[in-house]
Amino acid sequence: ANADDFVLETVGLTKSFKGFVAVNNVSLKVRRNTIHALIGPNGAGKTTVFNLITKFLEPSAGHIHYNGRDITRTSPADIARQGMVRSFQISAVFPHLTVLENVRIALQRPVGVSFHFWRPKTILNRLNDRALELLEDVGLQDAAGSLAVELPYGRKRALEIATTLALDPEVMLLDEPMAGMGREDIERVAALIKRLSANRTVLMVEHNLDVVANLSDCITVLQRGEILTEGKYEAISEDPRVREAYMGN
Ligand code: ADP
Repeated sequence: ANADDFVLETVGLTKSFKGFVAVNNVSLKVRRNTIHALIGPNGAGKTTVFNLITKFLEPSAGHIHYNGRDITRTSPADIARQGMVRSFQISAVFPHLTVLENVRIALQRPVGVSFHFWRPKTILNRLNDRALELLEDVGLQDAAGSLAVELPYGRKRALEIATTLALDPEVMLLDEPMAGMGREDIERVAALIKRLSANRTVLMVEHNLDVVANLSDCITVLQRGEILTEGKYEAISEDPRVREAYMGN
């Protein structure tokens, strides 16, 4: 990738709720095929930034550029169609279907297109192969026949990532993908995210700085709606303001 190849950029992004400025003048540059983490204490504005980028919320001011195009006024469905997908957006997991069936359904459901229940057999076979590949990607191949509801928590999150990957997104936005997980699952999902970033961009919101330490190419620290600092973990973790931001939490 080109040194200044930014797939996603926000310019002066601002959001107020009845006079309360939750996100203030946030200019974020996300480099293509990297893992970029947005961290900060509770209330820092992380979720609001995500909601603005995916257009769940309208910004009060500022712009969002995706692949050089201004998407500030683009609908959430169009943004997803253009390749930027937030995990929970489509990853409604059907608990009483198998893991494999869940991924097959996701594969049959391009964003913005209605379900197709009937398909010729050759296409169905191809879907099956692709679904198995995706399960392998997320380390769930051995659970293909299990009901989704039977999966332990960490593996359910892996299934959500598999159903998101079924859309072949260029940019994946992950909301605290490791929340509520034990060490083993955290390591499994971290390794998965690392693999994904070989040919995709991952922007993730994470509360816990240590979780993203070894994983992120770039970390943006938000505090009270503003960017406090950003850079590689080694650089930002030296910054006393970063540790301080976390202390008061
Ligand atoms: P984070 O995800 O970093 O915990 P949020 O983006 O959820 O932070 O929230 C940032 C601030 O904006 C918080 O003070 C929160 O109370 C406020 N906020 C978020 N959404 C709304 C809303 N819909 N109405 C009013 N205030 C909101």
